[in-house]
Amino acid sequence: RPVLQVSDVNKIYANGTVALKGADLTVRQGEFVSLLGPSGCGKSTLLRIMAGLGDVTSGTVNWWEHDYNVIGDKGRKLAFVFQNATLMPWARVRKNVRLPLDLEGDASTDIEGRIDRALEMVGLTGFDNAFPRELSGGMQMRASIARAMITEPNLLLMDEPFGALDEMTRNKLNDDVLKLWQKNGWTIVFVTHSVYEAVYLSSRVVVMAARPGRIVEDIRIDEPYPRS
Ligand code: ADP
Ligand code: ADP
Repeated sequence: RPVLQVSDVNKIYANGTVALKGADLTVRQGEFVSLLGPSGCGKSTLLRIMAGLGDVTSGTVNWWEHDYNVIGDKGRKLAFVFQNATLMPWARVRKNVRLPLDLEGDASTDIEGRIDRALEMVGLTGFDNAFPRELSGGMQMRASIARAMITEPNLLLMDEPFGALDEMTRNKLNDDVLKLWQKNGWTIVFVTHSVYEAVYLSSRVVVMAARPGRIVEDIRIDEPYPRS
């Protein structure tokens, strides 16, 4: 079942930079797709377009076989994780994680329980009253993943989410995301410029090349990397 379909998308920025040329990509339910390629090849541009955060110059993007307006309907949500944790520095972890529920005006009775479960999922139980500055970089990214997943989105888009972290922390978080994907059946699109990350994590690697940004390979990983 297609979650997202990008068809023949071209993107030319106002200054004339051709960032995407003829991008075609269908993401299906349960896939873990890596967008892999060198700096400047258009990965972020494509991801932002997938999130509805950027206009296309030509071509179409459909979510759940509908157009953009459908996003926000119950049960058809996407979430975006940026390279930096982008937490509200003045708010405690618990308040940061519940933000999307407040924005949605979610009035369900079990909000506190859902926050607890989201924090537990990312290993932050007990840190709900901390301020972001009191947490390590890795823990801040964990909190931003909890915030992204609190609304139970059907599509998780991540733009080099752990790129700002040291390698050991990044590997740990990658493993945790992999386990969460395996356990919960999330649909993920993940931007990286690391071949290792792409191959280790994803069920499908979409390779892009620069000048101008094109998709040059689309590789399904049938024999996944040995995963415990
Ligand atoms: P990547 O994520 O692979 O590094 P980007 O999507 O960020 O690539 O960028 C693709 C190309 O578009 C690059 O040449 C970049 O300089 C250019 N670009 C990105 N954003 C803008 C913008 N807002 N205005 C003009 N050019 C941009
Ligand atoms: P992560 O892999 O989540 O980034 P770190 O390697 O930074 O974690 O930290 C390892 C552990 O140390 C964390 O899981 C946490 O239990 C604890 N820790 C790190 N920073 C803090 C902090 N500022 N306050 C309390 N505990 C911390």
